[in-house]
Amino acid sequence: MSSVTEIFGSMVFNDSVMKERLPKEAYRALKKTMSEGRHLDPHIAGVVANEMKNWAIEKGATHFTHWFQPMTGVTAEKHDSFISPGIDGGVIMEFSGKELIKGEPDASSFPSGGLRATFEARGYTAWDPTSYAFIKDGTLCIPTAFCSYGGEALDKKTPLLRSMQAINKQAIRILRLFGNTEVGRVNTTVGPEQEYFLIDRGLYEQRKDLIYTRRTLFGARPPKGQELEDHYFGVIRLRVSAFMKELDEELWKLGILAKTKHNEVAPAQHELAPIFSTTNIAADHNQLTMEIMKKVAKKHDLVCILQEKPFAGVNGSGKHNNWSMSTDTGLNLLEPGDSPQENAQFLLFLCAVIQAVDDYQDLLRVSVASAGNDHRLGANEAPPAIISMFLGDELTSVLHAIETGEQCDSVGKTEMRIGVHVLPSLPKDTTDRNRTSPFAFTGNKFEFRMLGSAASISGPNTVLNTIVAETLSQFADELEKANDFTSSLNILIRRVIREHKRIIFNGNNYSDEWVTEAARRGLLNLKSTVDALPYFIADKNINLFVKHKVFTKEEMYSRYEIQLENYQKVLHIEALTMLDMVRKDILPAVEGYIHELCDTALSKKAMAPQAACQVEQELVTRLSALCACVYSKADELDKALIQAKSRENTLECAVYYHHTVFALMQEIRAAADEMEIHTAEKYWPFPTYGDLLFRI
Ligand code: ADP
Ligand code: MG
Repeated sequence: MSSVTEIFGSMVFNDSVMKERLPKEAYRALKKTMSEGRHLDPHIAGVVANEMKNWAIEKGATHFTHWFQPMTGVTAEKHDSFISPGIDGGVIMEFSGKELIKGEPDASSFPSGGLRATFEARGYTAWDPTSYAFIKDGTLCIPTAFCSYGGEALDKKTPLLRSMQAINKQAIRILRLFGNTEVGRVNTTVGPEQEYFLIDRGLYEQRKDLIYTRRTLFGARPPKGQELEDHYFGVIRLRVSAFMKELDEELWKLGILAKTKHNEVAPAQHELAPIFSTTNIAADHNQLTMEIMKKVAKKHDLVCILQEKPFAGVNGSGKHNNWSMSTDTGLNLLEPGDSPQENAQFLLFLCAVIQAVDDYQDLLRVSVASAGNDHRLGANEAPPAIISMFLGDELTSVLHAIETGEQCDSVGKTEMRIGVHVLPSLPKDTTDRNRTSPFAFTGNKFEFRMLGSAASISGPNTVLNTIVAETLSQFADELEKANDFTSSLNILIRRVIREHKRIIFNGNNYSDEWVTEAARRGLLNLKSTVDALPYFIADKNINLFVKHKVFTKEEMYSRYEIQLENYQKVLHIEALTMLDMVRKDILPAVEGYIHELCDTALSKKAMAPQAACQVEQELVTRLSALCACVYSKADELDKALIQAKSRENTLECAVYYHHTVFALMQEIRAAADEMEIHTAEKYWPFPTYGDLLFRI
């Protein structure tokens, strides 16, 4: 096998390939486009396209595609081959600058949330030159943004790129105030840690719920769950380790910095963490990572499950979104510095995040809302649905000293003044940090822990970038007018701490006391997707996104509709799957067992009239009652689904699914799980939790 350094990025048209293959002039123009977001000259695009094609063909590619991220949350691609008819009846391989820059996939079958009704059905894809092209399965993939002809974003990437522009603009204003004239661009960086389950393919295929919904809709608890905590960081099984090894190699070929792999808390659960990169690239790479996880699993006769809560009773899967801001000069803006000046700047950026998270708790919550994630947030394993922020004791005490003007022990018992004092060194540790916080400062970055494992990271990062851009813009407005910068800065920071410290919570987020305390502080507790979504279109949030040119009002409404519709569709499919399994699998199986029990009792009586048949009788009574219950609840669920359809308003409909349909599903599940416990194993129609979680 070739070495890691050889395979790394071997399928990527990256900087070194460009430098080597492109004429100097073309290379320079392309780099300028990439770093400054300029338009690429059509002539140069032609040169780049041609070289990209030659490179791809040498690597065995025959097709190209614009690779984009529609609102389905998964990626989309439409493959065209490079072939063009040649003069002699043969073919030549062609790829033009125009084909590189712009594609025109039919937009009509992608979710648009009503945007299509008012605008043209056609959409177009536009090359995002800041994310490198790559080869996947013999196809040259060009990362693109996807828009309607009116320019409305139809995808997840366009708003993400716009939000990166927004925060860049505002952060630069702040840096200039600190006298920094060198920085040309501020990017946000993200390292998403991805959790997933691996289960045996043969077992998976025997479960309709996993096939159709990616989560189990039934399943009694096995004798062993995760209580021994022996899976976390445990020795990786051979089969899983073979999967992980191949996954790493495939990701490395695509230039994805897969770094850490380990077993997670739940049995059959694992995690992969990459090294962080610029946000849009991190988002592209995370989509690719999820796709390749599924593909590689198949090769190993495994199935990779990314759904947020595939198994009740054990942990679900999330995605920790490590986020920071960094300059093109290599400075991490959330890294405390060594001088009073650097510290002042750090504290200002920190305050921007504090205020943003407090002012826009609702948006952060909305950004992680989905039918799948509803099973995690607020359950025992994931952060609660309440947004709060962990800063750690040291930093919190510094902020307290700044706010109150009290002496700060950690800076030598003096009054902590911004721009005068150096911060005490903050632990950047991994041991004692608070794992229960939804939004934790971890030394030089924030870790947003509420994301579900299956979702694209674009939405949450679009929100994060935009809300921080907003507070930075408010700070810049205020400070640009100031006569005495340092004293205005002191006043501003004090005020932000005083007004927004309610969002800081260093305690146990899983405790009941926190729920009460958070309510006292006036923090939002939006428990479900249907509770959260309406906040997205609140006036203050529309104003925010419109001001920073991240979404138009129409785009926001369309996204709101898409999310609500998606929520209903997911629940509808789950309910139908449940009905199918109850009627075609579970009831017939249990009736079969009841029949055997009755036969046994009858034969016993025939042979020995005095023989006790109490066991058979009790089981038959119990199981029959459960069958009757499940049977009638299934009918109720059927009716509820018809009722749901009759609701015109999408929010009302989603609420109905949440309150009525989902509640009935839970009742059916409870009864069916009870049946599983009392039914002989040979009758049970599909693999149990024990099989799924422990037989890899
Ligand atoms: P853990 O959280 O498991 O202790 P680390 O703190 O080392 O691990 O890193 C977790 C993730 O955070 C990794 O993906 C890492 O690349 C990412 N990360 C580190 N620094 C930054 C940064 N400045 N911006 C964004 N992500 C970062
Ligand atoms: Mg982490």
